[in-house]
Amino acid sequence: MKNNKRKYEKLISRLGLNRVLIDEPLANYSSFRLGGPADLMYKASTHIELERSIQAAYSLGIPIFIMGGGTNLLISDQGFKGLVIKNETSRIQLIGVRGGNLLKNKDKITENSKIYLEVDAGIGVNRLVRYTLDQGFSGLEPFLGQPGSIGGAMWINAHNMSMGKYIGNTVYSAKIIELTGKIKKIPKSYFHFSYDFSILQNTSEIVLSVIFELSRGVKEKLWQEAQSVLEYRSQTQPHGVYSSGCTFRNISKSDAIRLATPKYTTSAGYLLESAGLKGKSIGGAMYSSHHTNFIIHKGEAKASDVLQLINLGKKKVREKFGVMLHEEVVLVGEFNKNG
Ligand SMILES: Cc1cc2nc3c(=O)[nH]c(=O)nc-3n(C[C@H](O)[C@H](O)[C@H](O)COP(=O)(O)OP(=O)(O)OC[C@H]3O[C@@H](n4cnc5c(N)ncnc54)[C@H](O)[C@@H]3O)c2cc1C
Repeated sequence: MKNNKRKYEKLISRLGLNRVLIDEPLANYSSFRLGGPADLMYKASTHIELERSIQAAYSLGIPIFIMGGGTNLLISDQGFKGLVIKNETSRIQLIGVRGGNLLKNKDKITENSKIYLEVDAGIGVNRLVRYTLDQGFSGLEPFLGQPGSIGGAMWINAHNMSMGKYIGNTVYSAKIIELTGKIKKIPKSYFHFSYDFSILQNTSEIVLSVIFELSRGVKEKLWQEAQSVLEYRSQTQPHGVYSSGCTFRNISKSDAIRLATPKYTTSAGYLLESAGLKGKSIGGAMYSSHHTNFIIHKGEAKASDVLQLINLGKKKVREKFGVMLHEEVVLVGEFNKNG
């Protein structure tokens, strides 16, 4: 904070004294409830505010971190040295229909019609899914109950593994902003979506909004399908606990075949459980006994406890299976990688 005092003062004067939070505890914004303070935090609720804050930080050479729902993060106990921009944009707009006119004659919209919704990246996935179900728009029902924002979902290509569905499946195009402030409109192909991957992980570009291509469905039937997704989620995932979801990415199909896992499962949870991590605790953090790929903050945990568990999990799985697990959870701020 001290070294950057002048730069920070300039940033605060550009963004507004009453809009920038200083030394803001990030644990309050993370589903893990872990992490030290952000030197500075700015909550952006419009595209203009997002653009302005990104450009201002870039021109002053201040590092930024874009936070959506904070549901896939492990934030360092030392916090983040720079500006955390919390994306709170939340617009949903119906921008078009191919094969019918939704407003003039709803009955003309058939299963083959395509519905285009433009949504801000800051909107909660769950809120958007509920909206589409209520409107009778089909495509996002596999994501009912999915925590986090559309921006975070685009970054990792959020998945419903049991149904083999990815958020990228329904993306049509998007508007993104480079760290320099340049805005681009891009088609879906730009993202190179695959399991747990989008190009954003390499480019650090930030999603402003996304156009989803959906189809017409029957509201009651869509809700039924989505409810079964929710039930499956509540049976298979721990709930009512502080966590950041799955800790590790699943292994590749070729590794699963080589290791002859049961039914060739690629599940990192299976490997962790077989390596004896289920219920293993360090400090206030623990591998869940419900779903071993979840690490739970039991209370009084530090981010460094979680990192030690991560390192232990990698070591045990490598020793037993000869494969290296990779984090799905995003590490934010500085960590001593040896735990
Ligand atoms: C209980 C629980 C269950 C979960 N279940 C699932 C599941 O079923 N499937 C699944 O895929 N995930 C799951 N997750 C993980 C998490 O919800 C997803 O990864 C989610 O997409 C993260 O979104 P977020 O907005 O919270 O992102 P954050 O945690 O805020 O950020 C994650 C990454 O996305 C980046 N990011 C955020 N917004 C933007 C943006 N606008 N532009 C560019 N980059 C951005 C951040 O900089 C960061 O690198 C679960 C998590 C929890 C806690």
